[in-house]
Amino acid sequence: MSLLEFEKVNKYFGETHVLKDVDLNVEEGEVCVIIGPSGSGKSTLLRCANRLEEIQGGEIRLDGQSISDPDADINRLRQRIGMVFQSFNLFPHKTALENVTLAPTKVKGKDASSAKQEAKTLLDRVGLSAQSSSYPNQLSGGQQQRVAIARALAMNPRVMLFDEVTSALDPELVGEVLDVMHSLAEEGMTMLVVTHEMGFAREVGDRIVLMADGRVVEDSPPEVFFENPKTDRGKQFLSKLL
Ligand code: ADP
Ligand code: MG
Repeated sequence: MSLLEFEKVNKYFGETHVLKDVDLNVEEGEVCVIIGPSGSGKSTLLRCANRLEEIQGGEIRLDGQSISDPDADINRLRQRIGMVFQSFNLFPHKTALENVTLAPTKVKGKDASSAKQEAKTLLDRVGLSAQSSSYPNQLSGGQQQRVAIARALAMNPRVMLFDEVTSALDPELVGEVLDVMHSLAEEGMTMLVVTHEMGFAREVGDRIVLMADGRVVEDSPPEVFFENPKTDRGKQFLSKLL
């Protein structure tokens, strides 16, 4: 059994069939990188894993338990799946520290002082111990995104989903966010990462999953994908990068 399993997942928006029989297994501790053209269904796949979207066919499981079952406990489930988006969505009137402590105290009922202690450790881990009392508008985009990562980690998730988390950042701020993700990977976090950062994909990814038109069209280790892709779609995608 894999930690996160997508089995024959089908998703429609009205008449539009956006995920077509998607099979994907993410092993514990693995970094699975999803790439592919715009509109291929990458965000939708992550959103289905967090039940931000419902699926119309197939099943998604975490630790063997169905996520997609209508009776699944969504709140409990979301605590075990951290998600970070392109837009940071921090609470603007709360400090970095408060942004990180909010969910553990409100959702998990953790006491304020231990939540604060853990939040400090997490902010330190993302390199922001000096910014714990800053408000989002006092932080750079890269710093805000690192707070967003710390906030997701505060729920102690089993898996982290990242959807183009560096796409909205000025180029000089991309590296600091990728570095945090790189160290998370080294610490053994299971990660499903949608990104256009091919350097990161190659270096940190254990697997490269190429999506096109709602399907997984190639699933290869990075050295295979970037040196000698198995499929024509993979070759085509690579040739456009060069
Ligand atoms: P990607 O993240 O790979 O760019 P998306 O998952 O965002 O792709 O989108 C996949 C397809 O689903 C696209 O055709 C997009 O227009 C469509 N889509 C995404 N979200 C919605 C929505 N809320 N309603 C209708 N169509 C949507
Ligand atoms: Mg997307």
